[in-house]
Amino acid sequence: MEETVVTEVVVVVDINSIYDVAILGAGAAGLMAASNLKRRKVLIVEHNKKPAAKIAISGGGRCNITNKHLSSSNYLGKNQFVSTVLEQFDNEELLNFLHNGGLKPVVRKESQYFCPNSAKEIIDLLLHSCNGADFLYDAEIEALEKFGDLFSIKTSKGSFYAKKVLVATGGLSFTTVGASGIGYKIAESFGHNIIPTRPALVGLTLQPQQVWMKSLSGLSVAVAITVGRRTLTGDMLFAHKGISGPVVLNASLYWNQGKITIDFLPGIKLKSLFKSSKKTSALQIPLPKRFVKAFFDALELPNISYNAMTEPQKQRLSLIKSYAFAPAGTFGYTKAEVTKGGILTDEIDPFTMQSHLVDGLFFAGEVVDVTGELGGYNFQWAFSSAVVAARGINFQLTSY
Ligand SMILES: Cc1cc2nc3c(=O)[nH]c(=O)nc-3n(C[C@H](O)[C@H](O)[C@H](O)COP(=O)(O)OP(=O)(O)OC[C@H]3O[C@@H](n4cnc5c(N)ncnc54)[C@H](O)[C@@H]3O)c2cc1C
Repeated sequence: MEETVVTEVVVVVDINSIYDVAILGAGAAGLMAASNLKRRKVLIVEHNKKPAAKIAISGGGRCNITNKHLSSSNYLGKNQFVSTVLEQFDNEELLNFLHNGGLKPVVRKESQYFCPNSAKEIIDLLLHSCNGADFLYDAEIEALEKFGDLFSIKTSKGSFYAKKVLVATGGLSFTTVGASGIGYKIAESFGHNIIPTRPALVGLTLQPQQVWMKSLSGLSVAVAITVGRRTLTGDMLFAHKGISGPVVLNASLYWNQGKITIDFLPGIKLKSLFKSSKKTSALQIPLPKRFVKAFFDALELPNISYNAMTEPQKQRLSLIKSYAFAPAGTFGYTKAEVTKGGILTDEIDPFTMQSHLVDGLFFAGEVVDVTGELGGYNFQWAFSSAVVAARGINFQLTSY
């Protein structure tokens, strides 16, 4: 009979080289977490040559940091989980943090807070606040393992050891600025479940029947889009590849497959529009002529007065208030501002962002299954979840 030999992996680590905390990813969440860690030996690992690449290109170069109106209803994710995290570090607290660091964001588009001049302002503030941490740039994170109480972070520049690890590696969108799926892989390797990821805050592509919209490339109209039980309003941009613009980007957050319905005349009743019986119906529609012509052509509508139309023609014209179709897909991760899906929140403690499965393992930011609408909600999430994680880590390290 063969003898079974049980072997144990013994890791010999110089105690002085052990970090209290390793933060994986020097993006929005990683830097905010480092800023909120009480004086500790902290390592931040990043594969780019500098930090915060997404912050730098966000909000047209000015970073839309947060929004005046913050609620869990602005997010796709488990409502209770999202609100528990946001309540611990909300938009007011974020603004206080920024004010204390000398940054006074300005309000644009009614409710959105931006850096006054450049996204560099918030990056500099964050970097200044996490002064003292060791930054390891140009280092690809390859895997994370745990031996006893110690984590081993395997990177292209060697292995590093830490007592606590925060995974803040973001989502899959915009690989050009460093996005990768390593956070999901690490979570899975520790037994976490991942809600399937998809591009979000992204344009939608069209089916052949909607090809008429492509002829309108460059045109923007205010519409209401219904997707599932949500109706979103805002500007829609006809693009070469399909439809885009703020309202479409927000709709993409809640769309997986199936139909969306567009109201091209939000707030206007058709009956009140066609009161005058003499004018041709096309002339009475308060939308750009290019749009009206394309719509009439696509639906084979004659440009005659509304009253002269047959019932089937009136039915087809009424679709201007409820044009339903199933988009073919999205513009993909290369154009998507964010990734929806991610680490299942049921397996994370919303009061600490610590894994329920692994002691000492924390998550923050886009890697988690929480995704916000346009308007600063994604940075607010990254910052809120990072502060909650940092406080959780602080508490654990002080009670060591
Ligand atoms: C073009 C664009 C504009 C945006 N504008 C806004 C906006 O104005 N307002 C808003 O709220 N949101 C905006 N977003 C979304 C926002 O940028 C993200 O939601 C936010 O950055 C997520 O923060 P995070 O820290 O989780 O991830 P990230 O900020 O993406 O940080 C993750 C970090 O991990 C690093 N990393 C990943 N994989 C590895 C690896 N294997 N090894 C080492 N390092 C790794 C990355 O390089 C990156 O630095 C925008 C996104 C894009 C793409």
